[in-house]
Amino acid sequence: MSEKRIAIYPGTFDPITNGHIDILLRACDLFDEVIVTIARNPAKETTFTLEERFEMIQEVIDEGLLPKDKSRVEVLDGLSVEGAEQFGAGALVRGLRAVSDFEYEFQMALMNRHLAPKLHTVYLMPKDEYTYLSSTIIKGVARHGGDIRRFVPRGVERRLFEMYGFPLKP
Ligand code: ADP
Repeated sequence: MSEKRIAIYPGTFDPITNGHIDILLRACDLFDEVIVTIARNPAKETTFTLEERFEMIQEVIDEGLLPKDKSRVEVLDGLSVEGAEQFGAGALVRGLRAVSDFEYEFQMALMNRHLAPKLHTVYLMPKDEYTYLSSTIIKGVARHGGDIRRFVPRGVERRLFEMYGFPLKP
């Protein structure tokens, strides 16, 4: 029997958006298992705690927005390449949006290849409606009570509106 093809999808997920989910669904088409890994100590300061970010992703899996038999979420303490080794992943998935993502992603991919030559970085592109979507933009809109229903799962919308003091839209 051939070995299971496992990929990790590392990120900050502050919070998870439909853009992340779009990438995850594509990755689930390509791999037997996709593990979302949240960095415990990202260089960035986050809006949501690690626990909250974890819970929002777990809810997405529990609600069946991602295939339950293929996806799971884990916390990562060190480097992504170490996570890949720990979870037996042969690939690291990242999303590519606009050209602005390219330079940083290119640097990361080459550095990761230096650190773990056998680990493949796989870039996937989301649906065009998510191409300009980011967690930061979502938070900017939610902060003013704007409609974000098309761009995030319901649980994420609820937490954002709670945080910024707006009632949930019907
Ligand atoms: P990081 O801080 O590691 O960039 P993010 O949570 O911002 O963490 O993003 C994780 C990955 O998901 C990155 O590869 C990013 O390019 C990708 N991503 C984020 N938003 C989208 C989106 N709307 N469409 C496609 N990919 C996305």
